[in-house]
Amino acid sequence: EMLANQIAAGEVVERPASVVKELVENAIDAGSTQIDIYLEEAGLRKIQIIDNGEGIEAEDVLNAFKRHATSKIHTRDDLFRIRTLGFRGEALPSIASVSELTLETSTGEAVGSYVKLSGGSVVEHKPHSLRKGTKITVENLFFNTPARLKYVKTLQTELSNVGDIVNRLALSHPDIAFRLIHDGNKMLSTTGNGEIKQAIAGIYGVETAKKMVALEQDDLDFKVSGFVSLPELTRAGRHYLSLIINGRYIRNFSLNKAIVEGYGSKLMVGRYPIAVIQIDMDPLLVDVNVHPTKQEVRLSKEKELMALITASIQEALGDKQL
Ligand code: ADP
Ligand code: MG
Repeated sequence: EMLANQIAAGEVVERPASVVKELVENAIDAGSTQIDIYLEEAGLRKIQIIDNGEGIEAEDVLNAFKRHATSKIHTRDDLFRIRTLGFRGEALPSIASVSELTLETSTGEAVGSYVKLSGGSVVEHKPHSLRKGTKITVENLFFNTPARLKYVKTLQTELSNVGDIVNRLALSHPDIAFRLIHDGNKMLSTTGNGEIKQAIAGIYGVETAKKMVALEQDDLDFKVSGFVSLPELTRAGRHYLSLIINGRYIRNFSLNKAIVEGYGSKLMVGRYPIAVIQIDMDPLLVDVNVHPTKQEVRLSKEKELMALITASIQEALGDKQL
């Protein structure tokens, strides 16, 4: 069982960013409106996530660390039809198996719980009083799997991966207030007032948000909305292109291309805009690659969606040409 968890961890938990992603997605699933993320040494020393979600009942706490004991999704189609993000019931056991993990949680009704695991084994479990919500602390990631530690890159790279993930989670959940704090420095803070522009300001800065224009278009199959930067505001990489389908961020090469296409000759070669594109569509038109850590998706009617994205950007930039 322990070995199985460590093997599963190899798939789900590649680096600090994947731990942050899984834990934040759990906090989102729990209905949190505030999620605070504290990191030390890019998360390798410590990752702490505090949420104000529904918490875990005392009798369910140990089950959360058993593989497949929980699974919110039962069929492939559920993956997009339902809003919930977790789908395999193996993130917590996997993360716990390669770290020292402390979980404090309360539903706000009965007395809460405290459980501490080391390398996946429970070393302490007791009642604990806490306000409603959950606090998970992951320390010394990969302390017992030196081979995995070798794949970890520089702290700067790991930190930028975490930042990237949290940015996208915050952009796709403008109704949740996020804070990301690394070694005492605030990297991101959103208000959670539900407006995407506010999330953009909290992530990329107020000045950047001011230089972005709204877009909105739909056809029979898709609704496209969001914000894109004016042509003078560009970046050297694709990191600032965010695609959100039905409230979930995804990666898709063709759709990125469609965004760039919308700028046409306004964009210099090798430069990319900042864009947050929300797509609402019938979940059945999305074909998800079911690997837990990947966000790539395949889409039916991809060409149609590409054209709609390109057209909506052209329209939004319209009279705002250089
Ligand atoms: P999954 O998310 O696929 O169900 P996980 O291993 O990620 O599996 O989490 C196991 C279970 O632990 C979840 O189904 C949920 O019931 C509970 N859980 C984990 N994190 C939280 C949280 N922050 N708040 C409330 N419940 C949580
Ligand atoms: Mg999960």
